Amino acid sequence: MDFSMQDIKYLPGVGPKKAELFAKELGIRSVEDLLRHYPYKYVDRSRFYYLHEININMPFIQVKGHILKFEKIGEGHNMRLSAIFTDGKETIELVWFKGIKFVIEKYKTGIEYVIFGKPAFFNGKYNIVHPDIELISQLPPAEMMGLQPYYNTTEKMKSGFLNSKIVQKIILPLVQNLKNGVPESLPAHILKRFALMNLTDSLINVHFPKNANALNKARQRLKFEELFYIQLSILQQTKWREQNFKGFIFSRIGDNFNAFFKTYLPFELTGAQKKVLREIRIDVGSGKQMNRLLQGDVGSGKTLVALMAMLMAIDNGYQATLMAPTEILANQHFETIREFLGDMGVNVALLTGSTRPKVREVLHEKLRSGELNILIGTHALIEEVVQYANLGLVVIDEQHRFGVEQRSKLWKKNVQPPHILVMTATPIPRTLAMTLYGDLSVSVIDELPPGRKPIQTFHYYQSKRQSLNQFIAKQVQAGRQIYIVYPLIQESEKMDLQDLENGYNYICETFPGYKVCKVHGKLKAAEKDFQMQKFVTGEAQIMVATTVIEVGVNVPNASVMIIENAERFGLSQLHQLRGRVGRGADQSYCILLTGFKLAAETRKRMDILVRTNDGFEISEADLQLRGPGDLEGTMQSGLPFELKIANLAQDGKMLEIARRVAMEILDEDPQLQKPENHIMNVQLRKLKTNKLNWGVIS
Ligand code: ADP
Ligand code: MG
Repeated sequence: MDFSMQDIKYLPGVGPKKAELFAKELGIRSVEDLLRHYPYKYVDRSRFYYLHEININMPFIQVKGHILKFEKIGEGHNMRLSAIFTDGKETIELVWFKGIKFVIEKYKTGIEYVIFGKPAFFNGKYNIVHPDIELISQLPPAEMMGLQPYYNTTEKMKSGFLNSKIVQKIILPLVQNLKNGVPESLPAHILKRFALMNLTDSLINVHFPKNANALNKARQRLKFEELFYIQLSILQQTKWREQNFKGFIFSRIGDNFNAFFKTYLPFELTGAQKKVLREIRIDVGSGKQMNRLLQGDVGSGKTLVALMAMLMAIDNGYQATLMAPTEILANQHFETIREFLGDMGVNVALLTGSTRPKVREVLHEKLRSGELNILIGTHALIEEVVQYANLGLVVIDEQHRFGVEQRSKLWKKNVQPPHILVMTATPIPRTLAMTLYGDLSVSVIDELPPGRKPIQTFHYYQSKRQSLNQFIAKQVQAGRQIYIVYPLIQESEKMDLQDLENGYNYICETFPGYKVCKVHGKLKAAEKDFQMQKFVTGEAQIMVATTVIEVGVNVPNASVMIIENAERFGLSQLHQLRGRVGRGADQSYCILLTGFKLAAETRKRMDILVRTNDGFEISEADLQLRGPGDLEGTMQSGLPFELKIANLAQDGKMLEIARRVAMEILDEDPQLQKPENHIMNVQLRKLKTNKLNWGVIS
């Protein structure tokens, strides 16, 4: 039986209406989709409780007994139904606010029921609101009475009578029928090697676990399968691309690179920079197209690595581009690189959304003729009809801000694709990188340029404002500059948060002798530049800003970063903001200001930042605390594959194993032609038809 072809419409209890809801809300169409709709949690119903055992910490309980009496309380909208339920010794109140008529008609006093729900403590006694009630004779079969599955549904599904309970009822007979066996989806050699549960048993136990142990084994198997096929698919794409696209070969290290290295480079490269340059060198000399992700904490010197890679391209007769996520950042790269190159005679130009048409025209011409060596810019680089004489290398900075679609555009643009170096300052945990960019090789700059003093971070309550002001004054008197970041631009009635406008006034009043500039996302580009410039030149000592300064700004003299309502920001974002200081030789500080009352998780976030400057540690912690779906920035276009059961924060080890196995198999049998591997083609095809065409993604 091929479950992937079987429409759920014809299942008992489904029908066209519910089938449509399933499809629209969750993309579930076939029986297989439904079987692969795994519960998101389980509640233990293996035990019956007595009412005298109840305490407020219990999640759910079930009790056997009967109803003594019903009573309607209140009028109209405020009416509720109350029932007194007893287990023979004690009583508890059951409460309904909705469906009162239905409840009164359906349930009778004196009949033996099992009630199930979460006890609450109200007006000095326990009650259960909207409990599940079942006749003892109608309880699910004993084997199903252990861990009860709970399924994700949406609001629309619930109002269409498709709640978790009903989903469970629809799935139950399907699972009971599975006992005859479903076709296995993993090859026997893998099942054996890792002692995995077979698919039939896994599906049975993931929906209706026999016991906790069986559930665990089922979930392990399903997670492995999920991760394995994602990796297999990504790796197969990579191989396909390697075979079908040759890469430009930068065979020599030439004059530009050497001159820069020997004469123009103002400092020694760090060991990590050298290591990454060697990795890049090998890639671009290999004849394969490079797809490399360069991870390096803020301030680790990625720009310089990018520049030197671009010089390699130029020395071999190719052009290079550097693409940044914002205009400010593009500008800054342009300035930095021009300064680095001095009078070397490399032609560098800037192209952004605000480049004037006249300039743009000239630029296009120079690009087509090959006169231009390096083009720096924003999306304009790929959005425009920009034609290169011979584009050999594309560097993408702050990659997580580029949607995947944009990268793929770049890819499609060329028959012979350029080498691609993607740089990110949000260190992406290994596990996530492997799923997101499983086809990219990864380089890491794990060392900061020498002489940097680690930033000292403090967590203060807002009540400490007086001493903070003294600190600000002291720093400014010592010649330093200061950022103050706010979560809001203007005061909001809805949220009790510090805002930039009030903050600006407060700072101006408190420090009448200092110049303060103001930067936020609502400013016109020219005004923003003007304000920014005041800070860059040192004319302004204090900058109040929103998170627009998160990426880009490089003012080595700024040594203090103050973040108002730090509790409102995510870990990675706070770390990024902090990275704006600590760029010069002076001791830098980051002050996290919060209210006094903090959720435990928020407190943890603050503690982590105070404890460490290590971006990787922070992003791992971020992943643990928030889950991958939330990981800032990286997730703007979502994971390329939806994970149904695996969890990147928890299953990193398994992901690595799955990847290694997938690699081994592809090395031995690239087309998956061996009989024992056939089964994998079927699964890969399913994965691909489910998803967009990811093959073109760089
Ligand atoms: P990133 O882009 O990785 O955040 P940048 O490339 O902006 O970091 O570098 C941060 C600062 O460190 C820049 O001012 C840069 O000139 C400087 N820098 C880069 N490499 C070195 C090095 N090897 N030694 C000293 N300073 C360096
Ligand atoms: Mg940078």
